[in-house]
Amino acid sequence: MTDTNAAPTTPKRNLLDLTPEAARERLREFFAGIGEPSYRANQVVRHLWQTPAASFDAMTDLPKRLREVLAEHFDLPRLEIAARQTSTDGTEKFLFRLHDNEAIETVAIPEGDRLTLCISSQAGCALQCAFCATGAMGFSRNLTVFEIAGQVREMRLLDPPIKVTNIVFMGMGEPLMNWKAVDPALTILNDANGLGIGARHITISTVGVLPGIVALGERPEQFRLAISIHAPNDGLRRELMPINTKYPLADVIEAAKVFDRRVTFEYVMLGGVNDGEEHAIQLARLANECRAFVNLIPLHPGGAQGFTPSTPDRIRDFARELRADDVEVAVRKSRGVDIAAACGQLRVERLGRRPPRRPNHDGDVQVA
Ligand code: SAH
Repeated sequence: MTDTNAAPTTPKRNLLDLTPEAARERLREFFAGIGEPSYRANQVVRHLWQTPAASFDAMTDLPKRLREVLAEHFDLPRLEIAARQTSTDGTEKFLFRLHDNEAIETVAIPEGDRLTLCISSQAGCALQCAFCATGAMGFSRNLTVFEIAGQVREMRLLDPPIKVTNIVFMGMGEPLMNWKAVDPALTILNDANGLGIGARHITISTVGVLPGIVALGERPEQFRLAISIHAPNDGLRRELMPINTKYPLADVIEAAKVFDRRVTFEYVMLGGVNDGEEHAIQLARLANECRAFVNLIPLHPGGAQGFTPSTPDRIRDFARELRADDVEVAVRKSRGVDIAAACGQLRVERLGRRPPRRPNHDGDVQVA
């Protein structure tokens, strides 16, 4: 093959869209074809995720000529940082611009010796949850494998790098509606030859897309599952989350029950809407049915209009009511108050659709 003269229409293979093993195989074949030893493939694979290189040229443990040949045949794309904001509490928010001008958000949340990265799986979102800023902007497209895992890679390429210890799929989009890309991206995040993040430190958050929950459950790794419940009965849930028509509560609870690991319920506290004592009683019943852990999330006021956050007192009482029914519950701490670090907010601001939000009186703002 004389690929060095390949027509410009021949697309270069993006090595970051492949799992580390698939990339290694590709590279072995390639190096064999040009008479190079196979250990060269291992050298390159190491520069994909473990000690990422900003470009082929930056792989300085390879001879210059080889780096040039690699660049002719393969792609090693970057995600462009269009905006970066830092909160006074250390939370950082990134807006990445994609090759087709779509924009996605990633939020880095430091907490003690952990750093949780909240990543996006789609540009926009089709689900239209009533309180969510991403839902309000509509769905653009699924992210590719590289665009998902690349959000973490870019953190390692910063100077100084941000060392990610935990991942939550709680940025823009519904990860289980993009399983085709999320599945290999999970492998990259977790694999020792990829980003090496323990499966128990990676959480997939979903509205309850049943086929996706089954697919996730079939993976042997202990990835964590969080389900956005937000309402403890079908009537209210349909109002807040249109997806409930397709995947009603009873089916979602059943899926959580058969999921072989403990699930977390996410429950955003909407003042006067879903925070009554009767809701706590119903929610406790659901949680007990599948032994779920409940995370109460203070509403981020920068989401879609028309809701007010429950008061801190009400949230505390709601948690107490759940505990009285033997449910394990935590109230999620709010981060990134001053940088509007909730699902979809940075992008919405940049598009100028809404003015930046002020933190509410008690700083109860959720990060994603
Ligand atoms: N589509 C997935 C993951 C993205 S959203 C899901 O829905 O689970 C991640 C979490 O942030 C979800 O629980 C979502 O309901 C919540 N969320 C969205 N807007 C919010 C807001 N304004 N305040 C608090 N949490 C919000």
